[in-house]
Amino acid sequence: MIKLEKVTKQYKASTRPALSNVSLEVGKGEFAFLIGPSGSGKSTFFRMLLKEDKPTSGDIWVGDFHVNTLRARQVPKLRQSIGCVFQDFRLLQQKSVAENVAFALEVIGKPANTINQIVPDVLEYVGLGGKADRMPGELSGGEMQRVAIARAIVNRPLVLLADEPTGNLDPITSQEIVEVLDRVNRRGTTVVMATHDRQIVDAMRRRVLEFDNGHLVRDDKHGVYGIG
Ligand code: ADP
Ligand code: ADP
Repeated sequence: MIKLEKVTKQYKASTRPALSNVSLEVGKGEFAFLIGPSGSGKSTFFRMLLKEDKPTSGDIWVGDFHVNTLRARQVPKLRQSIGCVFQDFRLLQQKSVAENVAFALEVIGKPANTINQIVPDVLEYVGLGGKADRMPGELSGGEMQRVAIARAIVNRPLVLLADEPTGNLDPITSQEIVEVLDRVNRRGTTVVMATHDRQIVDAMRRRVLEFDNGHLVRDDKHGVYGIG
């Protein structure tokens, strides 16, 4: 589903590469943690997958998209097939819970009657049944992240990228959020989650990809956070 072949990203000739000759594959339906210290290349990896930035050399595939040669007019299609969740939730504060999720469908031109059918289902699915009309400001951090996940999955993307989704949450809420991501994954969506959360990685025992200084230094099938 995700494949990198000898990907190097060098922002400036004078500095060390942000990604250095990285080759890896994440299969359809896999769940992988992406770990490594700040500056190790995790965000660069996500940006490459979304074609927000292009590699200096190497090849990238997401599903059937050959990302590095993708035409500009195909980029929206690529991005529609990748859901994204962030540490800071990035909800639209002026819109209700339901409107935040509906917006993701409106921008791709789904008709209102379809939207009205899907949104309550997906809110129920992430554990927000009954909260459709709340405003983001009225929600807990865990609830805001559930909205963000609902919005990210409502188009049924092939891949869900989560960039430190539990970074602003307490340990119990973090665990609950990872359970939602796990459920999304078990439905068939490939999930890659960048995290510094040792407890979660150790509890889940899923695949662990570790970056250090732009190098892929570890790839364990049922990994732990390790000494990092
Ligand atoms: P992480 O997400 O693991 O913290 P990043 O991918 O953000 O790591 O950064 C990897 C390296 O690339 C760092 O040395 C960082 O300073 C550098 N870097 C990231 N983005 C840019 C950019 N837009 N321009 C120049 N250097 C960058
Ligand atoms: P599970 O097997 O985990 O229960 P399902 O795929 O059967 O998941 O989904 C349960 C319900 O949640 C379905 O009725 C569906 O409408 C809703 N749902 C799940 N995922 C999504 C999604 N990405 N977008 C919209 N609705 C969803």
